[in-house]
Amino acid sequence: MSVEINNIAILTSGGDAPGMNAAIRAVTRTALYHGKKVFGVYRGYEGMIEDDLLELSTAHVKNILAQGGTFLKSARSKEFRTHDGRAKAAANLKKRNIDALVVIGGDGSFTGALKLADEHNIRVIGVPGTIDNDLFGTDYTIGYDTATNTVIESVDKIRDTASSHNRLFLVEVMGRDTGYIAASTGLATGALGIILPEQKITFDDLFRDLRNAQANKKTSNIIMVAEGNHLGDVFDISLAIKKEFPSIDVKVTTLGHTQRGGSPSTNDRVLASVLGYYAIKGLMNGEEKVMVGMINQKVVYIPLSEAISKTTNLDEEMLTIAKILAT
Ligand code: ATP
Repeated sequence: MSVEINNIAILTSGGDAPGMNAAIRAVTRTALYHGKKVFGVYRGYEGMIEDDLLELSTAHVKNILAQGGTFLKSARSKEFRTHDGRAKAAANLKKRNIDALVVIGGDGSFTGALKLADEHNIRVIGVPGTIDNDLFGTDYTIGYDTATNTVIESVDKIRDTASSHNRLFLVEVMGRDTGYIAASTGLATGALGIILPEQKITFDDLFRDLRNAQANKKTSNIIMVAEGNHLGDVFDISLAIKKEFPSIDVKVTTLGHTQRGGSPSTNDRVLASVLGYYAIKGLMNGEEKVMVGMINQKVVYIPLSEAISKTTNLDEEMLTIAKILAT
C-alpha cells in the first residue's frame, strides 16, 4: 500500500550514539530523493515543543557521515511526557503540514513516539539508535558496534599495564538494564569475569573465579562490570575484593562517556544508512508505529509496541564461551 506523505520530520532523542548522524543523512537524502520535504527537529522532543525546526536540504547533511554524536542534538524532555507537552509538539508539526516523523533513539523515545501517534494521528517510525543494543526487533542497534570497539581499544591498553604490574582491573562499562556491551567486550578481551544486570552472581561466585585464576597462575586480570549489575557499585566491588584478597592489587577504570563518542565504525555507518533508507521506504509504503530493524541481514518492521515491551535475551552461550576461554 502506498501512502501520500509530503513533509517528514526527523529527530534524535535519548542518549546519543555514534551513527545517529549517518542515519539522519540517510533519512534526509532518501526523502529528498523521493521529492519530500524534510524538517530536522533540534534537541529531540524538547525542540519539537519549542518549535525548534529547520527545513533540511542535502547540503545540511554533508560531511556528517563520519561524525559521532548528532548534529540535530539530543535531549531528554520531561514536558513531552505530559499530554499538554505532546499537544504543543504535535501542533508545531501540524502547522507545517508534517505528516510523518522519524525518531532515532531508544525505547523511551519510541514510547513517546507511540503516544504522539496515538493521540495526534501522526505517522511515526522508529530507527534504533542506542549504544546499549537493548531493543527487541533488531540484531544490532546503531552505535553498539562503535561503542564496543571503543571499549576493547581501551581494555587492550589497560591489559598492558595490568600485566606489567600484576594487577586486577575492574572496568566499568555502560549498561544500566542490559549487559550487551559488557558481555561482548568481555569475550573480545579475554576478561576473567563479566558482571551483568541480567545475572544474579554473588561475591562467592566472583571470589571462586579469582581463586581459580590464582591457582592457574594468572597474574593479571580484567573483569568487565556493567553499571546496572547486582553486586553494586564498581568501587564497592573492588573494596570487597581487596578485603578478601589483600595481596591482589585491584584498580578500577570507568570508561564512562568515551563509549558514546567517536567516529562510527563501518558496521554502524552501514546499518544507519540502510535503516535510514528503509525508514523512508517504509513510511511511503504505509508502515507506521513500527521500528525498522535488521534481523539476520534482512530489514524488518516491528511494531513499536513490541520493540519497547519485549526484550532480547542475552546469549548465555557467549558467557559460557567467555568463561571457558578466560580460564
Ligand atoms: P537510551 O536507550 O539511549 O537511554 P531512550 O530513547 O530510551 O534512549 P529516554 O531518556 O528513556 O531515552 O527517552 C527519551 C525521551 O523520550 C524522554 O526524555 C521523553 O521526552 C520521551 N519519553 C520517554 N518515555 C516516555 C513516556 N513514557 N511517555 C512520553 N514520552 C516519553
